[in-house]
Amino acid sequence: MRIPCWAAARRKRARVPCHRGVVAGALLALLACGDPPVAPPPVEEVVYETQHFVIRDGAGLAASTVDSLEARLEVEYERVAAALPVLVPPERLTVRILAGGGIPFVTPGEGSLSQWAEALSPDYLPHQLTHLFTGYFRGGFLEEGLAVYLTELLLPESRMVNPYRGQPPHAWVSLFERFGSTISLFTAYRAANFSYSVSGSSADASAWQVHVEGGSFVRWVVETYGWDEWWELYQLNDLGAALRGSTSELETAWLTAARNAFPDPLECEAALSSVGPREEFWCLRARGSLFRSTSLD
Ligand SMILES: [Zn+2]
Repeated sequence: MRIPCWAAARRKRARVPCHRGVVAGALLALLACGDPPVAPPPVEEVVYETQHFVIRDGAGLAASTVDSLEARLEVEYERVAAALPVLVPPERLTVRILAGGGIPFVTPGEGSLSQWAEALSPDYLPHQLTHLFTGYFRGGFLEEGLAVYLTELLLPESRMVNPYRGQPPHAWVSLFERFGSTISLFTAYRAANFSYSVSGSSADASAWQVHVEGGSFVRWVVETYGWDEWWELYQLNDLGAALRGSTSELETAWLTAARNAFPDPLECEAALSSVGPREEFWCLRARGSLFRSTSLD
């Protein structure tokens, strides 16, 4: 099966040597009344090009950091393309390096991913590239689930990456099952909120849990039915039609598989790489100790 061309048509390009050019950053015009405020000097945006990426560095990365980022981008591009051969790889993608720190994000409409200079997360690239390869045409449960699963496939040793820190998605779901805190498949499939907040919130905790459950569910679909059926589900966007079962039947089979794969998951605090107020809240929710709204926000 070949997914219709919503990405640019495949066109083989010869690998080109890295070209680096400098683009002057925008200068802010100050309309002074009295003493003008002391503004930080504008950061020149530096543009780097690789075979598949235009990197727009607005944060002044060190040359060695840029070199390793360029290499890693091309590696992960090829690995995601190989893992998702049904998709037409985007010909050209943009990488924005932003000054400061935060959670990486993608803008599928412009084919760009953004990372923060103070928290560069190359291990997050398979997740971000998966979004740009699909174009994010489906709901969060399928899109995020696929990105989480691809990360598990491509970086099995890296369990620090949001959102499945510490242990694989199946193990987290097994833990949710132990405490009866699993968000139902019916609700998770329809969830609209997949946005994180580093400061923590009820919506943030729900977003973490549906990311994890989505990754676990996609793994179960692929391992149980195969990739062709997964893409059929992606295209039809209809659980029953694609997987031939009621939502409750599918949910039971999925959760059983997750529990059987990880009958002894790590406890929540032990699995998380760091435990602050945000993570403590996640763990309270994982243990079913806090109210969770059905709207997941
Ligand atoms: Zn995502």
